[in-house]
Amino acid sequence: MQKLQPLDAVVVGAGPVGSYAALNLARRGFEVAIFEEHPAVGLPSHCAGHISIKSLKGLGLYPLPKGIVENTFCKANFHSPVGAKFSLQLSCPVTVALNRARFDQFLAEKAMSAGAKLVLGSRVPSLLMEEGFVVGVVTESGSAQDMVHSKVVVDCEGISSRLLRQAGLPTLKRSGLVYAVETEVEGVRDVEETAVEVYFGKSYAPGFYGWLIPKRDGTAKVGLATNTGNPRDYLKHLMAKHPVASRQLAKAKIKQVGYHAISLGGPIARAYTDGFLAVGDCASHVKPTTGGGVIFGLKCAKEAAEVASEALRQGDVSSSTMSVYQKRCDSLLNFDIKVMLRLRRFLDSLSDERIDEMLRVCGKLGVDRALRDVDEIDFQGGLLLRVLGKPAILTALAYFAMLYLQQP
Ligand SMILES: Cc1cc2nc3c(=O)[nH]c(=O)nc-3n(C[C@H](O)[C@H](O)[C@H](O)COP(=O)(O)OP(=O)(O)OC[C@H]3O[C@@H](n4cnc5c(N)ncnc54)[C@H](O)[C@@H]3O)c2cc1C
Repeated sequence: MQKLQPLDAVVVGAGPVGSYAALNLARRGFEVAIFEEHPAVGLPSHCAGHISIKSLKGLGLYPLPKGIVENTFCKANFHSPVGAKFSLQLSCPVTVALNRARFDQFLAEKAMSAGAKLVLGSRVPSLLMEEGFVVGVVTESGSAQDMVHSKVVVDCEGISSRLLRQAGLPTLKRSGLVYAVETEVEGVRDVEETAVEVYFGKSYAPGFYGWLIPKRDGTAKVGLATNTGNPRDYLKHLMAKHPVASRQLAKAKIKQVGYHAISLGGPIARAYTDGFLAVGDCASHVKPTTGGGVIFGLKCAKEAAEVASEALRQGDVSSSTMSVYQKRCDSLLNFDIKVMLRLRRFLDSLSDERIDEMLRVCGKLGVDRALRDVDEIDFQGGLLLRVLGKPAILTALAYFAMLYLQQP
């Protein structure tokens, strides 16, 4: 094993979160290397790339260069398992569908332009530890292994999260995992170009939902996640039997398919230790309602880079300095995550009949009108507080509480 020069920071994984953490460290003048196990950034892609425009703007990442944004949306159609539909029309485009491979490549290129080094085809199987401190990583490329020493390791390895245990941190809750299938299809019909479709139903996507995200060329991203069984079988069932999806996808041809897990259980209790920070999917920085993790991951990556930079400047990367990262992530996410965990539990508890009833009631009460001016979808706890004063929302919440209490 060859011993290489020590770096300021090593980032594990060139997903969006890893590249953004590296970008923010490199911009501050630190020597950073990103190790990515795959030979190319962003591939294979495992994400629908449905992201809020306002959050991207807040991170300085919008507008994006040409070729990354596949579509913009100002509407969502929610379908019950027996055909009820609730449509939410917003007053302006609120979300985009991104080509995730291109988005990831864009962020990796930005990190490299700022001075970060990207090493492709290089897996990190383990951490280097000295007296309880993380002091670097072992990298593996084919049969060659190297030791890379660094003052800080920023773990952005995604859901696989193999390094957390070695760092002595809590790992992802298995009970919070759902298993997703994501496809690219051509030949969809009866879909509105600027609306995403959401399909509920225990026999179609138990523990989550199905989705259809149209592009502008007659193709779409279609997928679902489930907390039980094989997602591929559920997708076949959704495409063949769901009262709305089966019509929209009757002539659809699947061009591409991928499988990946999503962690809905809320962030791990502790995401730092001596010389080490965990960010993004590996720390479950993910919305428990929708499984969206790009924005939360990027926001935490920014915090991680700031805290690591300060620790490097002070020459103290011990837990006590790194704990500031935890405090910042907690204050950024905790309230919204708590609300979303409750919403997830509520949705999981509802029978198909109750979901059908709920969507019909939302339409009748004018919940769509009350939510018309919503301009972001990430911080759902804050969003709920902002709309709580509207009579339609209050009545709907009271009704949902009643539905919940009436569950057998
Ligand atoms: C089907 C599906 C649809 C989704 N749709 C959306 C959506 O519409 N909107 C949204 O916001 N989120 C969505 N998500 C979630 C989103 O994909 C993740 O939250 C996001 O990718 C997290 O980014 P990350 O950088 O933490 O992890 P990843 O994107 O998973 O990146 C991790 C990187 O680390 C690399 N890696 C892993 N282990 C190692 C190692 N040991 N050594 C070196 N490299 C390693 C991997 O190859 C990968 O490139 C979806 C997820 C799924 C499964």
